[in-house]
Amino acid sequence: MGFIETNDLRYFQFDSFKGQDVFHAVLTRHGGASAGPFASLNTGGTVGDDPQAVVANHEKIYQTFGYDYYSRFDVWQVHGTDILCADGPRSPETPHPKADGILTDREDVTLFMRFADCVPILLLDPVRRVIGIIHAGWQGTARQIARVAVEKMGACYGSRPGDLLAGIGPSICPQCYEVGPEVVRAFQRSYGGRAEVYFSHGKNGHFHLDLWTANRDTLHMAGVTRIEESRLCTACHLDDWYSHRAEHGRTGRFGVLLTLGKA
Ligand SMILES: [Zn+2]
Repeated sequence: MGFIETNDLRYFQFDSFKGQDVFHAVLTRHGGASAGPFASLNTGGTVGDDPQAVVANHEKIYQTFGYDYYSRFDVWQVHGTDILCADGPRSPETPHPKADGILTDREDVTLFMRFADCVPILLLDPVRRVIGIIHAGWQGTARQIARVAVEKMGACYGSRPGDLLAGIGPSICPQCYEVGPEVVRAFQRSYGGRAEVYFSHGKNGHFHLDLWTANRDTLHMAGVTRIEESRLCTACHLDDWYSHRAEHGRTGRFGVLLTLGKA
């Protein structure tokens, strides 16, 4: 587990994925063209950044790793639980479909998603050769999007949960993530008594949510046993990551790229 630097880009990789027939990069905010609160490798096109800088950032990422920019499949992330199975790159003329999980078994597709505190979950089935990225904020986590994605991998590609590797990427830590009572209620509705362990009380008595434990637990319940956690907090480490919470909404999005086949 650790960071790598190439062409001014600094990115994180999971140890468990390294020996596998995939390439993945959880990109930090370093090495891009964006300025101000978006400095510098912002990949979010709807956060107020200069659109030309955002395009330049995407192109730099694809050039650096040697992939065709038009191989990408990405989506408009909406905090739901829809998971799409991509059978080809997204046509540039087609608007982004709305979804919070993307899967593929195609080597000519690069999966790409954007984050700033929400949990990136990377999935790999080395047996059926299937990959996926999930975007799990509190809403998706409360609705058990990780389980939905594992089930969808089974339905679309015949993947068995016991074969899967999962990586829980950089996202907001429990100490930084104060939430309201409506969040607690949503988890209680979904997880019953189990929800209790996902919450703690901060100094002021407010609830704090542990998205890492909740997602690890959800993956376990879905039958996934090989789970690696980065345990890197986006809000604690603004030098590397964008944090929607710590930067009061005025910030960028870091990119996650995952594709089958070696780079
Ligand atoms: Zn933190």
